[in-house]
Amino acid sequence: SLRLRLTLLCAALLTLCCLLLTLTNNLSAVQMAHSVQAVPLLPAQTAEADAHTDFPMASLEINETVRQARGIFHLQSLLAMAAVLAAGLYLIYRLVGKALAPLDELAGQIRGRTAEDLERPLAIPDSGDEVAELARAFNQMSRRLNQVFVMQKNFSHNAAHEFRTPLAILKTRIGLFRKKRDFTPAAVQDFLQIMEGEVDHLSAMVSSLLELTNLEQMERGERLSAEQLIQRAADEVALPAAERQISVLVDVSPCTLTGNERLLHRAVFNLLENAVKYSPIGGAVYVSGRRADGVFRMEVTDQGPGIPAELRRQIFEPFFRVDDARSRQQGGAGLGLALVRAIAQAHGGAVRVEEAPSGGSRFLLELPLGPECQAPPPGTDKP
Ligand code: ADP
Repeated sequence: SLRLRLTLLCAALLTLCCLLLTLTNNLSAVQMAHSVQAVPLLPAQTAEADAHTDFPMASLEINETVRQARGIFHLQSLLAMAAVLAAGLYLIYRLVGKALAPLDELAGQIRGRTAEDLERPLAIPDSGDEVAELARAFNQMSRRLNQVFVMQKNFSHNAAHEFRTPLAILKTRIGLFRKKRDFTPAAVQDFLQIMEGEVDHLSAMVSSLLELTNLEQMERGERLSAEQLIQRAADEVALPAAERQISVLVDVSPCTLTGNERLLHRAVFNLLENAVKYSPIGGAVYVSGRRADGVFRMEVTDQGPGIPAELRRQIFEPFFRVDDARSRQQGGAGLGLALVRAIAQAHGGAVRVEEAPSGGSRFLLELPLGPECQAPPPGTDKP
């Protein structure tokens, strides 16, 4: 335990200090004994050397007494050292325990926490020390964890709900088909078409969900041309756009990007697909892309219904739809923009929406520039 380790550390230091102190004490005591022994003997030796024939005897006695005194002193100082050490160790153990008590208390509080009460913060001691700091850090962490748990819960709840709708439709249709017993080619064709539609919807949802969860593991170091990326997505929406007489106008400056081509194509395609999907018949979608403020900025502007200001952040949440019934009718699962945001963020970029001057929406996708695009050609710093 930390208490034992701290005690042992202090004990080692205390022992070292005691040993050094005892050693220096003993050395200086020995030196002092030498001087004390020498002082009375010298004059006696010179003045009365001849008269006292028993002087060597007296000197021997003194030497013996001094030797004994020295022995006693060594022993006493060693005993004193042992006593000081023992008392010191006991005090250190108690004091360390006392100093660590708030930590123990904090650990007890943390141990009692479960995923359900992560919202409830720990009481922060008003000591203003490291323990208070630790409690504060724990509270911050559990707040963030709680947000993630709530998001995950909502996500699973919404995902289950989304899957339930097409599955319920499938089940009802199969039941009806069986009940009617109308197996004419036209009825079978009709039935299969409905089945296919729902299965397509389900598999699109599964792909989007898989993409959302696997984003971080995907390689993002490919070099790609922004022009080609955007033009390819525009070509892919050309057919559904033409069906509703919507013109898609593209104007992109040459620039390179670094990232995952498949993911970036998906992000650009989702924005264009939505613009076409939510545009009125005969409308126009403008797509532009250029270097601006140190990033590559792509703008997709449509003449659709626009997005209310208070929902402009929420539409990037998974399964969120402004007009639930209408989006479902158009085959949307509410994952398209969540994917765009996740892809942009995985590439170090961002996406947002604002109101277009024409009243529709304008989506701005910002991506970091590729190295070739970072240095502006002379005199063309402005986008
Ligand atoms: P969906 O698949 O339902 O279109 P998205 O995640 O792509 O899901 O979009 C979320 C919601 O944002 C849509 O349901 C729609 O209400 C709104 N939305 C997205 N793009 C546009 C747009 N260009 N114009 C108006 N509303 C849009």
